[in-house]
This record gives sequence, structure tokens and C-alpha cells, in this order.
Amino acid sequence: MHVLITGGSRGIGAATARLCAARGWDVSVNYVANAEAAAAVVAEVEAAGARAVALQADMGEIDAAETLFDAAEAALGPVTGFVNNAGIVAKASMLADMEPARVKRMIDVNVTGAILALRAAARRMPTDRGGPGGAIVNISSAAARLGSPATYVDYAASKGAIDTLTLGMAQELAKGGVRVNCVRPGIVETDIHLDSHGFDRAAQAGPSLPMGRAGRANEIAEAIVWLLSDAASYTSGALLDVAGAR
Ligand code: NAP
Repeated sequence: MHVLITGGSRGIGAATARLCAARGWDVSVNYVANAEAAAAVVAEVEAAGARAVALQADMGEIDAAETLFDAAEAALGPVTGFVNNAGIVAKASMLADMEPARVKRMIDVNVTGAILALRAAARRMPTDRGGPGGAIVNISSAAARLGSPATYVDYAASKGAIDTLTLGMAQELAKGGVRVNCVRPGIVETDIHLDSHGFDRAAQAGPSLPMGRAGRANEIAEAIVWLLSDAASYTSGALLDVAGAR
């Protein structure tokens, strides 16, 4: 079992890498800039007795997905699990005040990057393309159904695209033995909020959330790893909210 996780160096991706290793998966850890964080995750996976490799790639670049999958397979063999997790936010703002370049980068990484990553998976994993079959988990957000007004509607729309992709790709790949599902986290304790709010939004929002706290990365990872596992063998095309009743 070999899982490739985009954005596996920090946050939800890193928690997923650690949990996958504990459940017997070898792990390819993609990152964009933080080589140190990626190396730390690789070390943790190896300490759990699994194999791991850190692979740099900017998923917002047009050729990144093909290069990444080739490198992952060269290092650890055929990919049987794919977590389409890399994603960015940007400074909280009204749409009217956003720079066009920021919106373009959001779509390049969160939508085009995710679609091309699914394309790379779809060219390799299905049994009717000579692959091993397996499971894919796309990472969307509760923002896809909330809209994120006055915060980042561009991000929310990018996650709506991930939901829709899940529905289509689950059907495209079903006969090839590949399940495709989606996890939609609520507000989770990771670094991502510093990029949008400049402060720890998860801690600040916590008391006002239904459970009185934000989610933890490992709580999202549990759902992702379940969807990757054979325990979810008849689950495909699902959009799973892990958002603490938000
Ligand atoms: P995070 O803590 O900011 O970590 C982001 C990860 O993605 C890092 O590993 C980062 O690599 C990588 N990354 C960023 N841009 C990339 C790019 N262009 N190419 C490749 N990798 C890239 O984020 P997170 O909170 O774990 O979020 C993970 C996913 O969950 C995202 O899709 C996000 O939208 C979604 N989500 C998060 C929350 C939340 O509250 N945290 C809620 C809903 C959905 P480096 O370490 O190299 O920078």
C-alpha cells in the first residue's frame, strides 16, 4: 500500500501521513516550500516502520502532477492511495477588494492543480489502465457549502469545484476499481489560518463553534484514512463533512 499525499508536510496532510504509516501504508509526502517539515514527517513515517519519501512540487504548476506521480512511483512503487490535499487560502477580504492575481493563484492551486492531480491518478491507478486500483480522497471544505462571505469566496468556490469533481470522478473510475471520495473539514487547528487572518483563527473561533472548539488535524485524518481503507469498500462519491456540526 502506497499513499501519495499532496501537501503532506504540514497540517491535515502531515497528520494523514502519520496515521497512514501507523496503518501500514508507505507514504509519499509532497510539499512546496517547507523541506524541513517534509523531512520531519518522513522521519516519523519511517519511525513507524513504513517507507517514505519527500517530494517537492508546486501543485499550481501545469506539469507538477505528472512529475510528482512519476517520482512517487519510482521511489515507492505503484500508488494505491491518493490524498488530493494541497490547498491554499489568502487574506480575508471582500471579493471587490481582491487582487485578480490572487484569485488566479487560488484557482491554479486549488482547482487546476487538483484536477490535474486527479488526471495523473486516473491515468495510473485504474485496473482497466493496468493499475492496481485503490482509493482517492479529495480535500474540500465546509466553505463549499457556507460560501465564506467577506473572507474568501474564491477559496469557497474552489472547494465547490472539488465536491463536483468527486461526484464525476467517482463514476468515471468505479469500474476501474478506484473509489473517489471527499472530506469537507470545518475549522481545523493548522497553520493555514495565518495566511488568511494573520492570527490563530481556529483558537479564536473555537468557543463559538457548535462543539465549543475547532477540529484537530488528526480528527480529519481519521476520516481520510477510513475512506482510503477497505473498510470503506462500498463508499464512493461521498462528500463527508468532518466539521463538528458546523
Ligand atoms: P496547512 O497547514 O497550511 O498546510 C498546507 C500544506 O499544503 C503544506 O504541506 C504545504 O507545503 C502544502 N502546499 C501549499 N501550497 C502548495 C502547493 N502549491 N503545492 C504543493 N503543496 C502545497 O493547510 P491545512 O490546514 O492542513 O489544509 C490542508 C487542506 O485542508 C487544504 O486543501 C485546505 O483547503 C483544507 N481545509 C483546511 C481547513 C482548516 O481549517 N485547516 C478547513 C477546511 C479545509 P509546505 O509545508 O511546503 O508549505
